[in-house]
Amino acid sequence: MPSAHYVIVGAGSAGCVLANRLSADPATRVLLLEAGGSDRDLNVKIPLAFANQFHTKRDWDFATEPEPGCANRRLYIPRGKQLGGCSSMNAMLYVRGRPLDYDLWEQQGATGWGWEDVRPYFLRSEDNSRGAGPDHAVGGPLRVEDQRDARPLDERIIAGFEAVGVPRTDDYNTPEQDGASMFQVTQRGGRRWSAADAFLRPAMKRPNLQVVTHAHVQRLELDGTRVVGVRYRDKGGAEHVAHADREVVLSAGAIGSPHVLMLSGIGPAEQLREHGIDVVHDLPGVGANLQDHPMVSVINETTDTQTLYGADKPAKLLQWLLKRSGPLTSTAAEVTAFWRSRPGLPAADIQFHCGALYYERHGEAEFDGHAALVAPVLVAPKSRGRVSLRSPDPYAAPSILTNSLTEPEDVAAMVAAIRLARQVLASGPMAPHMVRELLPGAELQTDEELEANLRERVELLYHPVGTCRIGAPDDDDAVVDPELRVRGIEGLRVADASVFPLIPGGNTNAPTYMVAERAADIVRGRVPTAA
Ligand SMILES: Cc1cc2nc3c(=O)[nH]c(=O)nc-3n(C[C@H](O)[C@H](O)[C@H](O)COP(=O)(O)OP(=O)(O)OC[C@H]3O[C@@H](n4cnc5c(N)ncnc54)[C@H](O)[C@@H]3O)c2cc1C
Repeated sequence: MPSAHYVIVGAGSAGCVLANRLSADPATRVLLLEAGGSDRDLNVKIPLAFANQFHTKRDWDFATEPEPGCANRRLYIPRGKQLGGCSSMNAMLYVRGRPLDYDLWEQQGATGWGWEDVRPYFLRSEDNSRGAGPDHAVGGPLRVEDQRDARPLDERIIAGFEAVGVPRTDDYNTPEQDGASMFQVTQRGGRRWSAADAFLRPAMKRPNLQVVTHAHVQRLELDGTRVVGVRYRDKGGAEHVAHADREVVLSAGAIGSPHVLMLSGIGPAEQLREHGIDVVHDLPGVGANLQDHPMVSVINETTDTQTLYGADKPAKLLQWLLKRSGPLTSTAAEVTAFWRSRPGLPAADIQFHCGALYYERHGEAEFDGHAALVAPVLVAPKSRGRVSLRSPDPYAAPSILTNSLTEPEDVAAMVAAIRLARQVLASGPMAPHMVRELLPGAELQTDEELEANLRERVELLYHPVGTCRIGAPDDDDAVVDPELRVRGIEGLRVADASVFPLIPGGNTNAPTYMVAERAADIVRGRVPTAA
């Protein structure tokens, strides 16, 4: 029976950070269990190939229940199932969010998670190609670079935002986030730099870290209300129990972590009983508070021929293989803009993802030609959803509902943002290069028409969070306390994107690294704790 001081479930963004930091002490034995396999594949390493992983063995391939706010469609939720988890599948866009996000976490009971507390943990990870400064650091494991191969259209899009009153900014990863700029990306020399690259591989040489792939955790092993290990099955279906001398850290992500908790009898009692699972601890918040960022594309055909159309040609692959340059280094979205859809908001509620490509239905819809994309993403959604059990079978996907676009304010912000995207595409710097509007389609003009089209086409931007949220110790709906301990259970923490009380105003990978960096310090007793 394998045993370790710490058993970490899930080698994703958070799990890789924890495995590295906890095994830095040679006297600490760490076991990292991952349901997926290796990350050795060109579709992982080549930045623009990330969507080739969708619906493959590298993807948990989740989908929501029919969404009432989205014309009753099921929305696709890809999740990485391999070393690096989603960081081996994501679009590599490096975005921290703004101080307000974390100050709101603190106000909602996540004591010690305010901006000034978490800022050092963003910097600890970072190795920014722009060098060190008040907002950036060098020397950390996580390489962050400017894009290697920008397209001329990128500059026009930024100028287009300026023309409609959204200022140009050099760096959205400062306290002043608003404005349009190029994305910085988690790449090293034109290749993906995942959590496995940055944090896991350097630590795998350590004799005190054991990594087991194809280890699908079925449930936690409990002695009363104390977690003593985990039960998992290997590739061949054989069952194993791994013993944790000190703690289990659950880092299975915003879908996986609440799922494992519920399978282990920790969750909403009534729901567990419905599925014949013995209730160890009634914790109603498990799986609740699900948040994600809805996205819709606005796309024009363009006369510009230097786009990502044809980026998959053999010559471009050769260029990437030989020089790590060319369009395959692109992350699809190359430009971003943070914008407030109405006056009086404390921060941007919309983040545009823009680029020289046609991206609709996760890249599955095709257009035979050159295109310009300006896609609004709602980064301050009011709607809340949930992850719940569908079956007691650990291999059955849980039921997921985001309730996206069920709040009128969310819909109004997205409709306003679609209109702004159209203005950007029609602006002075852009107009001479535009042929026609492809999506949503120029014939749609009234708010009602745009709203109906939005509900038909909206998708999720791959950022589920919040399903094991941090809250004050007396908050009965919280899942973990500010030290990430699962309420009512000993020997168990959760550390991943599921603990976010509130979704940050930007992409979620950098915040997940931050959570894991701070979690590692908490586990090692390096953060003064309230209790
Ligand atoms: C297609 C896509 C594009 C994205 N683009 C960006 C982007 O450009 N920028 C950005 O900031 N964010 C992006 N994200 C989101 C970001 O990558 C995630 O928020 C982040 O990686 C979440 O990290 P995590 O540690 O919480 O979960 P994950 O990285 O999902 O890790 C969870 C791990 O646990 C494993 N696991 C789950 N259940 C079990 C089990 N029962 N037993 C064993 N192992 C288990 C999983 O296989 C996985 O490896 C994107 C995500 C996707 C999918």
